[in-house]
Amino acid sequence: MKKIRTRYAPSPTGFLHIGGARTALFCYLFAKHYNGDFVFRLEDTDVERNVEGGEESQLNNLAWLGIIPDESPLKPNKKYAPYRQSEKLEIYQNLISDLIKKGNAYKAYDLPEEIEKQREEQEKKGIASFRYDPNWLKINESEKLKREKEKQYSIRLKLPKNKIFAWEDLVRGHIEVNSDDIGDFVILKSDGYPTYNFAVVVDDHQMEITHVLRGEEHITNTPKQLAIYEAFGWKNPEFGHLTIITNMEGKKLSKRDKTLKQFIEDYKNEGYNSEAIFNFLALLGWTSADKSEIMSREELIKKFDPARLSKSPSKFDIIKMEWFSKQYMKKVENSKLISLINSPKNKEWNELFVETYKQHAVTINELKENLKIYLNPKQNLENCIATNSVVKTFFNELKKVSFTIENIQACIDKTKDILNVKGKDLFMPIRIAATYEEHGPELAKAIYLFGKDIVFERLNKCN
Ligand code: GLU
Repeated sequence: MKKIRTRYAPSPTGFLHIGGARTALFCYLFAKHYNGDFVFRLEDTDVERNVEGGEESQLNNLAWLGIIPDESPLKPNKKYAPYRQSEKLEIYQNLISDLIKKGNAYKAYDLPEEIEKQREEQEKKGIASFRYDPNWLKINESEKLKREKEKQYSIRLKLPKNKIFAWEDLVRGHIEVNSDDIGDFVILKSDGYPTYNFAVVVDDHQMEITHVLRGEEHITNTPKQLAIYEAFGWKNPEFGHLTIITNMEGKKLSKRDKTLKQFIEDYKNEGYNSEAIFNFLALLGWTSADKSEIMSREELIKKFDPARLSKSPSKFDIIKMEWFSKQYMKKVENSKLISLINSPKNKEWNELFVETYKQHAVTINELKENLKIYLNPKQNLENCIATNSVVKTFFNELKKVSFTIENIQACIDKTKDILNVKGKDLFMPIRIAATYEEHGPELAKAIYLFGKDIVFERLNKCN
């Protein structure tokens, strides 16, 4: 069997977005499941939209997620290089010349304003989507020559009439489009740059890509690409179009929506666990046959089955994302967490701190924030609400014993018995008086982590 090859081909126009990361992830899982190769290449011909460092950022963020391409501009396989479209302009232009020679493509001399006029006329006639009419433009030979000289032409693919372009979509099943509904389209722009549809076909063909997984916004491009494959007499890869990702209200994610963290960089900077994000993204539009949720990279690779890609939109559920992050945080080795939080305290204290706080933390930054509570203990509490019997009783008991987690716990239990209070009425006053915080992890541990001196000083103040 032919080696499976998938690819992720972003434009370096910005940072790695959740949508792109998910596409890359599915391509990666697909390739790895079948022992194939996952290729990263760049669609960087839209020079004006390229951003400085875009390529690097895409690759770095993918690497952070653990998605390491087998081939990329930085790790090229000679057989398939180059991996940046901007370095292949001559290749595209030569192939286009071949198509012109074969009669499958032609020069179209329409100026942009003439195309606009044609479009308006079609709109007036009620034609919903524009279809280029090669006979619309009426110019004489000398005008044509002038435009030829000034390179005022684009190259269009000559589509066969009334021909069905069809494919079995890996996600959606059979899709077909009639060539008459497409119209001859541009494959080389007047500036000498190929269009996306043309370049992507050449790249996929030359790189021997076997399966193309991409966002559903590309469904309308696929018949055009099939037409190009046919014009060349090349075999096309298989296609699968992933459904959109929506926000909680069911609306398509908009990059402009600032209320949601949509860039992988955001999660990296906030100290999320990359394995958790990897796992979460894999479930954005895919489910495992056994319905498991927490799965390692290896398990996901093993279980990945393209037949289980969802046909309905996937909701980006931030609550679920946090839940995943918590599950992963609990599993991280204490020593690893200690190495990440930069704590000046001793080993035993650090051990207890991370063990206690990792039970509920979502991110490393959250652990760091919690660490500050101990490194710079608050001096005063604005409202010392804790001058009540619970605190007094607890403190009385605490004074009688040595300062250990077990003894602190025993004093809390004793207070409960003596005063016959429980739940919030018991824990809240003690927590506030001893830790100066309303929330925190297991109370006895939180108190112990502050150390006897600080806790006694605080409890004294409240008495
Ligand atoms: N640069 C295109 C995109 O990011 C790639 C489309 C494709 O995979 O064919 O949407």
